[in-house]
Amino acid sequence: SLPTIYAITPTHTRPLQKAELTRISQTFLLVPNFHWIIVEDSETKTPLVTNLLAQSGLMYTHLNAETPKEWKLLLDDPQWKKPRGVKQRNAALQWLRNHADPRKPAVVFFADDDNTYSLELFEEMRTTKKVSVWPVGLVGSVRFERPILDEHGKVANWSTGWRPERPFAIDMAGFAINLKLLLDNPQAEFSFDAPRGYQESTILAAVVTKDELEPKASKCTKVYVWHTRTENPKLNDLKGKVPGMIVDWT
Ligand code: UDP
Ligand code: MN
Repeated sequence: SLPTIYAITPTHTRPLQKAELTRISQTFLLVPNFHWIIVEDSETKTPLVTNLLAQSGLMYTHLNAETPKEWKLLLDDPQWKKPRGVKQRNAALQWLRNHADPRKPAVVFFADDDNTYSLELFEEMRTTKKVSVWPVGLVGSVRFERPILDEHGKVANWSTGWRPERPFAIDMAGFAINLKLLLDNPQAEFSFDAPRGYQESTILAAVVTKDELEPKASKCTKVYVWHTRTENPKLNDLKGKVPGMIVDWT
């Protein structure tokens, strides 16, 4: 039967959140056998996400796992200063280990809420035996990053804008893992202790070797996912007044 795709999305409260979740959820709606695991970076589940999921028409699991205080990005912190999504992705992995049916074929993908996903991507990843990889657009200060293949079609190297010497120099959106590997390797998870840019290498090294990687997207020549980052709106309508209830903003 058609393997299920579990997409794990960490998400956090901000003015952009509903727009981002609306955009990606309506892409996901077009993907067959899709199960969205959305993990809020919050102490409790918010009404915004609860309502959005209930109305989405998707199969989903709604979790929350708050980033510990010492790892929270402060308002003026640059993005790269602390890893993002670590606790949330681990909570989703834990949920899968406790709840997913190991007899049913499934593939796990990490789908951040601000990226842009083409439908082709999901059909490429669906046949993942161990770990599949593909190019990611608009990441690391280059138009695209991609695995470089040798003459046998195996991953030899990485073409990246940044630190190609990483064991798996690939963005979070550039790979998918067969669920079985995550169940067979219960220690595989993300870590706050990993150096900057090493989250992907941390989880991948725990489940696979480079020579086992399965290149997708026409031998890694097509871009089906983009590491877009929506500009944070500079709002000035909250200073000293509440916008009121005219618009159902949340
Ligand atoms: N995220 C989160 N808590 C935060 C910051 C980010 O849960 O404090 C989520 C965010 O919504 C996204 C993922 O973690 O789904 C990656 O974050 P972001 O896109 O900001 O990081 P980048 O793309 O720069 O790595
Ligand atoms: Mn992002």
